[in-house]
Amino acid sequence: MSDPGPAGPVPGGELPAVADVVVVGAGITGAAVAHHLARRGASVVVLEQADRPGAAGATGFSGGMVRAYDPDPAVAPLAVAGLAAYRDPGRWASGRAPLRTVGAVTVADPAEEAALRAAARRVNDALGTSAHVVAGPPEAAGVRLAGGIALVEPEAGWVAPAEVTADWLEQARADGAVVRCGVRVRAVESRGGRPAVVTDAGTVLAGAVVAAVGPWGAEPVPGLRPAAPVRSRSIQVSIVGRGPSAPAHATFVDLRTGLYAKPVGADRTLLGMPHLVWDVPVGAPPDPDHARATVTALTTHFPWLATAPRLDTIRAADAYGAPAGDGPASGLLSETGVPRSWAVCGWNGGGVKTAPEAGRRIAEAVLADAVPAGGSCPGAV
Ligand SMILES: Cc1cc2nc3c(=O)[nH]c(=O)nc-3n(C[C@H](O)[C@H](O)[C@H](O)COP(=O)(O)OP(=O)(O)OC[C@H]3O[C@@H](n4cnc5c(N)ncnc54)[C@H](O)[C@@H]3O)c2cc1C
Repeated sequence: MSDPGPAGPVPGGELPAVADVVVVGAGITGAAVAHHLARRGASVVVLEQADRPGAAGATGFSGGMVRAYDPDPAVAPLAVAGLAAYRDPGRWASGRAPLRTVGAVTVADPAEEAALRAAARRVNDALGTSAHVVAGPPEAAGVRLAGGIALVEPEAGWVAPAEVTADWLEQARADGAVVRCGVRVRAVESRGGRPAVVTDAGTVLAGAVVAAVGPWGAEPVPGLRPAAPVRSRSIQVSIVGRGPSAPAHATFVDLRTGLYAKPVGADRTLLGMPHLVWDVPVGAPPDPDHARATVTALTTHFPWLATAPRLDTIRAADAYGAPAGDGPASGLLSETGVPRSWAVCGWNGGGVKTAPEAGRRIAEAVLADAVPAGGSCPGAV
């Protein structure tokens, strides 16, 4: 890109000495939080260790599948609101809705039919969409159901997570936020009851801190690690070629097995299968056995995979953890041991779907707890 735009790399320069809120990490979560904070008038500093936002962590490798249905009642309202945001052109600096509407197929055990029908009604009531259950036919939207039934959401699909991240940071910058890349936070310390964010480039005294560091939350960085247990877990996906004779298909997840897939452009498909390797960094090397097993397992749903060329294998990681049950944003934020420094809980492989609404809720909770009626944090400029 010749012009990285407002969300691109920001050359050196002094860090602001103070901020209402410092957001650590410029993945999709940090970007969403920063956007909503800045839109509400807080002075925000975003600090990202990598050279670019939305590139180094889970966000940079993510498939970005989004749908309104989620079987977890804690995630379901976030997913519904997330799809609404991704469909709405009015919420984006680009003026375009980021959603690629290819449809979404969620396959479940036939015993779940009543629950799926109720979920489809809830989704349609909230969004005015045409979600419906397919029970009986062996296939839906280009996906073989392999003995399952499907909740089909024709209005869902996928987004490009880095593009969404850049758009939110652009909006945050327009609302006065400072975004600094290439700045690693070493620690968050308590100074006089307020969090001080310590980096190699200087220290920022904050009214509050939100650590949105993804799988790095599992590392013992003082003041960044959530008190709620969080671990990094590998996520590995493969890209295969989809020839002209293979049918187009919607995004897909099978709740029985954890298998998933999404189209990538007109002639490729991304395939995924749970990779239960824990406590690994984002940059661990690909696992070829798992890549082969993924293609084999998904052939049940996409018979054309039997002859499809495997083009690439991508390995990354996400933060996994039980959501914190209390604190300023129930289920979303955890204490860190440093006053007014909160860590975002793990997204368990689904943080793109939930980011629009999670970012909004986190921003509101942080401002309600850390900012007095006057509109800025005690002592913060
Ligand atoms: C291969 C793959 C496929 C996925 N597919 C989907 C999908 O289809 N749908 C879906 O909803 N979700 C999906 N996910 C999950 C989703 O992408 C993640 O939940 C989400 O991107 C997490 O975003 P985040 O901002 O919390 O973390 P990250 O994107 O990991 O961002 C954390 C950021 O913090 C920075 N950071 C860390 N430590 C520091 C520090 N000390 N100082 C400064 N900066 C720091 C990192 O450099 C990084 O940029 C997928 C994930 C992967 C890996």
